[in-house]
Amino acid sequence: MKQLVILSGKGGTGKTSIAAALAHLASSEMRLVLADADVDAANLELVLAPTRVEEHPFEGGAVAEIDPDECLACGICEGVCRFDAIIPGEQSYQVDRLACEGCAACFYQCPKQAIRMVPQQAGEWYRSDTRFGPLFHAHLFAGQENSGKLVTMVKQQARLLALDTDADLLLVDGPPGIGCPVISASAGADMALLVAEPTISGVHDLERVLATTDHFGIPARVLINKTDINPARAGDIEAFCQERGIPIVGRIPYDTTVTEAMVNGQPITAYADGPATEALHLAWAHLREALRS
Ligand code: SF4
Ligand code: SF4
Repeated sequence: MKQLVILSGKGGTGKTSIAAALAHLASSEMRLVLADADVDAANLELVLAPTRVEEHPFEGGAVAEIDPDECLACGICEGVCRFDAIIPGEQSYQVDRLACEGCAACFYQCPKQAIRMVPQQAGEWYRSDTRFGPLFHAHLFAGQENSGKLVTMVKQQARLLALDTDADLLLVDGPPGIGCPVISASAGADMALLVAEPTISGVHDLERVLATTDHFGIPARVLINKTDINPARAGDIEAFCQERGIPIVGRIPYDTTVTEAMVNGQPITAYADGPATEALHLAWAHLREALRS
């Protein structure tokens, strides 16, 4: 089983449209499991129209809670809290739940064991069926952190099913950027497809995400999206890739049909023939061969 992760140095490059199209193309040739690892803005489901078959709570961490009947109002917890999350009172102290970072320093220092750490549900993760294969995805509640941990959960579940069902490919739609969730999404990948756009920051965004995949030793391929909207910037990306020895698997021209397909809940490759679909077929053929070698 091979694992392909799709990344981009920033959001809005068309990464999810490309992930949906590759899911469509790959599913006609092999057994596929999908993971939407962009848990802060999961939108692969908007194109794949999944049917949920499992729903699970996700505990992202814990917050401190003080038992007022046990509290001596000694103030030790206020002194050790680096996040100003303890609110003093005359009879007992309280915790500001929004300010609490869950570090548990107060829990260990309280002389009366008046503090307990209460697990918090930070989101949900799901297993769904799609016409291209099972999809694992998630929803992180507003204001919640730990998205790296939730990405790891989604990935683990997808990988387990892929191994259990002897799937050929685990296709991961990764989060944009270079943070902790990107590292979680990339873990164990056999290859990373980096989606770049010919914008002012295009090369810089690509360089940043490439530094992450290089650090973890993941071979990368580049796909330039909307390549003709700025040929000069596209040329900069091409030159950068040539200099770094990174193969370019495709150049997708700007094609209004891509948006039309998204609005209709379809991957572009399933929706219409045209320049974008043609470029995606070529890109998939290149990726398939690269994954085999
Ligand atoms: S350390 Fe314990 S006993 Fe002292 S104020 Fe905090 S919760 Fe109350
Ligand atoms: S768990 Fe950490 S952040 Fe939360 S109240 Fe206790 S010391 Fe402060």
